Amino acid sequence: MLQLDFHPTGRHFLQIPGPSPVPDRILRAMSLPTIDHRGPEFGVLGLKLMANMKAIFKTQHPVMIYPASGTGAWEAALVNTLSAGDHVLMYETGHFASLWFKLAARLGIKAELLGLPGAEGWRQGVDAHKIEERLKQDTSHSIKAVCVVHNETSTGVTSDIAAVRRAIDNAKHPALLMVDTISGLASADYRHDEWGVDVTVSGSQKGLMLPPGMSFNALSPKAIEASKKSTLPKSFWAWDEMLEINKSGYYPYTPNTNLMYGLSEACDMILGQGLDVVFKRHVRWGEGVRAGVRAWGLPIQCADPALYSPILTGVMTPDGIDADAVRKIIYERFDCSLGTGLGKVKGKMFRIGHLGDCNDLTLIAALSACEMGLKLSGVQLKGSGVQAAMDYFSANPVPALIQN
Ligand SMILES: *Cc1c(COP(=O)(O)O)cnc(C)c1O
Repeated sequence: MLQLDFHPTGRHFLQIPGPSPVPDRILRAMSLPTIDHRGPEFGVLGLKLMANMKAIFKTQHPVMIYPASGTGAWEAALVNTLSAGDHVLMYETGHFASLWFKLAARLGIKAELLGLPGAEGWRQGVDAHKIEERLKQDTSHSIKAVCVVHNETSTGVTSDIAAVRRAIDNAKHPALLMVDTISGLASADYRHDEWGVDVTVSGSQKGLMLPPGMSFNALSPKAIEASKKSTLPKSFWAWDEMLEINKSGYYPYTPNTNLMYGLSEACDMILGQGLDVVFKRHVRWGEGVRAGVRAWGLPIQCADPALYSPILTGVMTPDGIDADAVRKIIYERFDCSLGTGLGKVKGKMFRIGHLGDCNDLTLIAALSACEMGLKLSGVQLKGSGVQAAMDYFSANPVPALIQN
């Protein structure tokens, strides 16, 4: 039987697309003594984090930090801007998009889901033209918000957020644009202000390389205006009190101070290297991992190469092979965790994360665990994915600036 305190030798390979492996430097920063969240030291930390998070979201406007998982920040985005019975337009790119849709319905919002029917839609990104067409039909402007997922973590497909903004503008529609980049932030290119996003939702345990337990809302002036008229019940999530007290670096309630030390360290690492350097590193890792998947002869869940996620790769298993049984073998034999197929694609695919504290060798090791597990499961592989990834990484050296 599995025991909680059982640890095999060496490091566990946490290759799920969040929580991601946390760099030791961040873990050490979090081990500092807990401080008084009303004391002078906290105010300095709070102001630093707000400024750093603005840089990471690429916004001039306020960023709310919640002691909650990403789901909390999803709820915060909706309850702060909408009223009961409001109509929102969402787009089904995968499991997380459909969970946000369900959450909206539970709040009493009339949510409408666009997208391709069946599992095929889970291989594509948002089709901005569909959004434009739908908004053009809404001549009475009953749709109050368009909500999309930037990096769909259940599939490994990204969506073009600037195109969604253009679609809303082309339709001359006043709806707010809300984007979930819970897994994308700080690993995939993201531009809150430039892309005209009104609320961006994110979380700590994926691209930001922190443990779970913290999440974010980046706002726009239009979202703040909408919050003044919104009547959905809110207290813990309410932006108004938070905006006021945040001005001095503090929070209306006890924030998770030690995670904030971790966030401070993560921001120093990410901003110190430069966001563009970080983004390029993840693109390169994604290329290396996908070279491996192609060499196996297995299809990649994302059907459009232009939309490959730099954060994770979804691998489809052949008909008759249960992807979760393959994952189980890989976990039990090689101490490596891979992401499960969620919702419509359960048992049909698994996910390899290339986010957090990775490097070429950890990714090659993860691919070797996959390769061994696939063979043990009876999957006929075309060739060696490990060899292909080694070839890719050797042929594409890391530019000096992109070291970890
Ligand atoms: C992880 C994730 C969520 C949910 O966040 P939790 O922290 O698990 O509540 C939502 N959307 C996306 C895209 C995610 O990757």
